[in-house]
Parts: sequence; structure tokens; C-alpha cells
Amino acid sequence: MGGGAGPVRTTTVPERLAANRFVLDEEESHIEIDQELARSTGTAERIIAVCPAGVYSMQDGRVVADYAACLECGTCLAVAAPGALTWHYPRGGFGVSFREG
Ligand code: SF4
Repeated sequence: MGGGAGPVRTTTVPERLAANRFVLDEEESHIEIDQELARSTGTAERIIAVCPAGVYSMQDGRVVADYAACLECGTCLAVAAPGALTWHYPRGGFGVSFREG
């Protein structure tokens, strides 16, 4: 019997991310940054480096969050100094819905 399941289909990370659905809360960001603390503690560099969705970037000397793309993984909280970052889940009905890619 030569059967088997056939070729395994692989997907790339961008393909999997594109399968997710985001509902943007345009009235309220679920991420707030204390600019002074983020700078003085190195939090800015760390959250930019670790966020898998590229939410954080530097613009005109400030670290900004494009919160619409947040995957709600919590990694940024793990590397942020106390008080530098306020993060909570988006309000009900908003945020990411994961789908199988
Ligand atoms: S929770 Fe995850 S995806 Fe969202 S901003 Fe933090 S590190 Fe990025």
C-alpha cells in the first residue's frame, strides 16, 4: 500500500498572520506608554525588538504603538520595566481572532 496522507502543505508566518482577523477599537488603545520611563529604562528598545507583530516603532524620538496589529501575546509586558508600559486586553468584541492558516 502506497497510501499516506499526501504532501504536507506548509504555510509561512506571514500567511498565518494574514489569516487572523482584527477588529480595531478606534476609540481606545489598549496600550499606553510612559515615554520617559520607556526611554530611561531601555524598555523602548526591548519592546521594539521583541514584538512579533512590529507594533512598536520610534517616531520623532517617541516610541509609538500601532495597536491595531497587536497579537495579544503579552511579550512586551514581560520585557517592560514596571510602569513603562500599560497593557490590557482590548475591550470585548475588539482585538485579534486567530484562525488556522
Ligand atoms: S502583546 Fe505581543 S503583539 Fe501585542 S504589542 Fe505586545 S508583544 Fe506586540
